[in-house]
Amino acid sequence: MRVGVIGTGYVGLVTGVCFAEMGNDVTLMDIDETKIAGLIGGKVPIYEPGLEQMLWRNVTEKRLHFTTDLEATVDRSLINFIAVGTPPCNDGCADLSQVFSVAREVGRVMKTYKIIVTKSTVPVGTTEKVRAIIAEQTNCQFDVASNPEFLKEGNAIEDCMKPDRVVVGVNDVRVGEIIKELYSSFVRTGKPILVMDIPSSEMTKYAANGLLATKISFVNELARLCERMGADIEMVRSGIGTDPRIGPHFLFAGLGYGGSCFPKDVEALTQTARENGMELGILESVQRANQFQREHFINKIVDHYGGNSLHNKLFALWGLSFKPRTDDIREAPSLDVIRALRSRGARIRAFDPVAMEKASEILGDSIEYAPGNYECVDGADALIIVTEWNEFRHPDFDKIRELLVEPVIFDGRNIYNRSRMLERGFTYYSIGR
Ligand code: NAD
Repeated sequence: MRVGVIGTGYVGLVTGVCFAEMGNDVTLMDIDETKIAGLIGGKVPIYEPGLEQMLWRNVTEKRLHFTTDLEATVDRSLINFIAVGTPPCNDGCADLSQVFSVAREVGRVMKTYKIIVTKSTVPVGTTEKVRAIIAEQTNCQFDVASNPEFLKEGNAIEDCMKPDRVVVGVNDVRVGEIIKELYSSFVRTGKPILVMDIPSSEMTKYAANGLLATKISFVNELARLCERMGADIEMVRSGIGTDPRIGPHFLFAGLGYGGSCFPKDVEALTQTARENGMELGILESVQRANQFQREHFINKIVDHYGGNSLHNKLFALWGLSFKPRTDDIREAPSLDVIRALRSRGARIRAFDPVAMEKASEILGDSIEYAPGNYECVDGADALIIVTEWNEFRHPDFDKIRELLVEPVIFDGRNIYNRSRMLERGFTYYSIGR
């Protein structure tokens, strides 16, 4: 099948590469000329495990093309996915200007029948607006569909190649059949392709992210209570996670959720509700609990030093990305921790296996960047763990103790055994224990 993907970010690039891997002829289009020139010249703009190798295989086998030319993309492809950003507006609602701008352009250049699919996360009613915008520009026949993406950064290739489910929203069953055919090779193990109406499909994505964010905030809130009551959230987690009604996933206490999806999607959903005269009380609380969780962790650091000023303190910070196995630092907890400590006069030296380049685009030289995790710790007053990269799980603790001015660790992800850390002679703070 000939497929166009408009928007070559984390979602567009990964899904486009996976469509090509299944033998489709895929054109990846972006307005960012630097990004497309980079891709043509051999530079993959994001870090995602397994992506680079799969991408180059499909380029070499001539199934994957990069362009800034929307008209050529639409001409070539029967199905065109819109995978551009939907960042938050100032009031929290989803900013749909990129989606609508693509819709206008697609309508302008369309010459024959096409299927236009919203893959970006968009509020209910957006795909219908896309249809109306395209119709204003063209007399061609076309259909629209919704196909939200559920991939997780850090595991995106696996998620895309073997999705738990594919959700497709259509007005016309024939369009559903065409999209099902495209996805049939991804669900050979029997995972479902769920074809539904467009509003339900759009809502499904927000419902999934809202519920996952709720699990995280619930556990984090409970972790704070565990600290007060002398219980251990890690024990509690294992005590509830084997119940199949609850499940083991998304029950890890930590610094709260971040990234480019949960914060903005939960906010957009609550905002959609407000616009429709409703309050989503649970999700409003989920957001408050998430923000409070970061402040709670920062307070542990401040309290350890007995006051507000952290002048002359140097903190080693492990992990900048919002979670492991990605270089994405959008809404990363690290940014809040860094901001809060710097505002109290502290210096930060950070190390992240892949996210330092992206972080430096935002943080510039306001912090130092270390070439490795031990260089990061050398001469620091304490170590702060923000992202649970696997390479941080089993370090040489004797070396860390020697390199730190004082053996103090603030672990925002509970990656170490608490009693072992005390035995090793560290002052060790973690979450909910
Ligand atoms: P991104 O910011 O990484 O990428 C968006 C891309 O769209 C950029 O490369 C940008 O240059 C391009 N773009 C903007 N306007 C354009 C235009 N007019 N024509 C062509 N290209 C244009 O965003 P992302 O993280 O890939 O997210 C895309 C959408 O997918 C969002 O709605 C997001 O909520 C959703 N989503 C993201 C994830 C994730 O993990 N990142 C997961 C599921 C769903």
